[in-house]
Amino acid sequence: MPFYSKRQLLPKLKELNIRLDKKRGQCYLVDENIAKFIVKEVEIDENNDIILEIGSGLGTLSDSLVRSGKRIYLLENDEKITKFLYSHLKLNYKVKLIDLSSDAIDFEQFLDVKVIIIKGDAIKAPFPVVTKIVGNIPYQISAPLIFKIIDSWNINELKKCILMVQEDFANRLIAKVNSKNYSRISAAVGLYLNIKKIKLVPSSCFFPKPHITSVIIELTAKYSLLVDSQENIYRKDYLSFLRGIFPFKNKSLRNAISFFLKNNENATNQFKYFKKIIKNPELFPFINKKLRRFSPQQLFNLMLYGTTGKIEILQEFE
Ligand code: SAH
Repeated sequence: MPFYSKRQLLPKLKELNIRLDKKRGQCYLVDENIAKFIVKEVEIDENNDIILEIGSGLGTLSDSLVRSGKRIYLLENDEKITKFLYSHLKLNYKVKLIDLSSDAIDFEQFLDVKVIIIKGDAIKAPFPVVTKIVGNIPYQISAPLIFKIIDSWNINELKKCILMVQEDFANRLIAKVNSKNYSRISAAVGLYLNIKKIKLVPSSCFFPKPHITSVIIELTAKYSLLVDSQENIYRKDYLSFLRGIFPFKNKSLRNAISFFLKNNENATNQFKYFKKIIKNPELFPFINKKLRRFSPQQLFNLMLYGTTGKIEILQEFE
């Protein structure tokens, strides 16, 4: 697949009868240096790396990724585009196209195939086991995608993710406790991932041109994702705790937890020890502090108290 500069992209899209739609996150990279930079940052090991690319588009990044990696999965939800990718890549590689709307998915079956194109929604599709994830990801699905990555990260396999995201979104990922941007996603990322902003990318590098500045970020796993750490064992519980309380981030912790548990029988059973400190706030005076003032680690410890009832966990707060 050639690289498409802006001048080459327009006639190509016309030929394929594709109309790019910004609302569906279809802003294509038309700056070859940035594309090369992203691929370099992936640091591909050709003997071992199995790569997942999210939102491949016409293959701006995919082509070099395919050439350098051991195997690659291209996940894209636009049918015309996946057909185009298939017809091109099959000229040089062993390629399989899986349409998630009709085909059963069994990645094990295709272990000898170099390129697996998956036509489906990146949020709903099951992720194959990979060592690197790359993507100029659609902004509309950035947040659910990051939660999905955190939820499914297997530290024995996945080494890092190189993603292009909206700059404002990256700032939410790294937001400090009690800052304006501190949110559920900052509390999730903060506990589990290291995040590095590697390069700002101006909107002129894309077609159609978005209104925002983008940034390339690198995500790697923190030790908290080690298999036998408490943080890992209680990963799903922590993520569901955050989902429940963060809609109330400007309320006191006490109110946030009360609102979360109210009319939610499952949560009340799962985090059954919170009742005690809500009824007896003198056991944990910090419960009246605003939720957004609690760091990811403190929120994790609170979740652990709510689940296990070990009161000594609460004595470590200050
Ligand atoms: N990698 C290409 C394209 C990036 S644009 C480049 O850098 O030029 C993002 C791509 O993601 C588009 O092709 C769009 O069709 C696709 N996309 C949008 N929403 C998606 C979803 N929910 N699941 C999978 N792909 C999606």
